[in-house]
Amino acid sequence: MNTADRRGLLIILSSPSGAGKSTLAKRLMTWDPSLQFSVSATTRPARAGEVDGKDYLFVTEEKFRGWVKDGDMLEHAHVFGNFYGSPKAPVQQAIDAGRDVIFDIDWQGAQQIRNSALGRYTLSIFILPPSIPELRRRLVSRGQDDDETIAKRMQKSWDEISHWDGYDYVLINDDLNVTEERLKTIIMAERLKFHQQPGLSAQVRRLQNEFEDLS
Ligand code: ADP
Ligand code: 5GP
Repeated sequence: MNTADRRGLLIILSSPSGAGKSTLAKRLMTWDPSLQFSVSATTRPARAGEVDGKDYLFVTEEKFRGWVKDGDMLEHAHVFGNFYGSPKAPVQQAIDAGRDVIFDIDWQGAQQIRNSALGRYTLSIFILPPSIPELRRRLVSRGQDDDETIAKRMQKSWDEISHWDGYDYVLINDDLNVTEERLKTIIMAERLKFHQQPGLSAQVRRLQNEFEDLS
């Protein structure tokens, strides 16, 4: 497919914290390096190992509020006591160039993008954990949060899960490899929808000419 003449997709992954969306997003970008990750801005402090500009743009609340006020955010939300949002310009540039963008955002952000002018280019996928004890185990095994933060994330997880049915697809992330394959299948199928293939009309016209030449 010629990517230059198609509008890129906005591929949204949401889940309760710990269900596996960042891991899956990274695997998808290894699978298809043309996928662009939407680096969110946040007012929360960086965790050990997180790189400013790669994992997040770590900004002050004042700066964040300024971007929202100036209309520079595609969506934004208050999550776990901090602000998070997706800067608009890099997303617009990528999709105008025909590149698909991956978002790791919560249900509020997903809803705002779906209701925006770009809503028709959105593919949204919700990731469920196989069980609540397993969700907790994953948060603990990730080794990034103290007990209090884990308890806070677990408390909030139902709030996130309760929005599962607003998404185009819902996957239970039990076996990581199976979930990854299912995500790839969904993305490939979405890319083959006919409005994602602007070159099709020309192809059909060509077929019609050839058909008419037969008679
Ligand atoms: P999220 O981005 O949704 O908060 P992460 O991608 O950080 O979640 O995953 C949380 C932890 O669970 C990580 O340590 C990750 O390696 C692990 N994990 C993710 N998916 C699975 C899976 N299917 N089976 C077992 N562990 C998983
Ligand atoms: P964390 O602090 O664990 O990185 O992220 C906490 C939550 O905020 C996750 O559910 C994540 O998906 C969500 N999140 C991260 N970036 C954004 C964003 O730009 N917008 C919205 N709405 N949520 C975000």
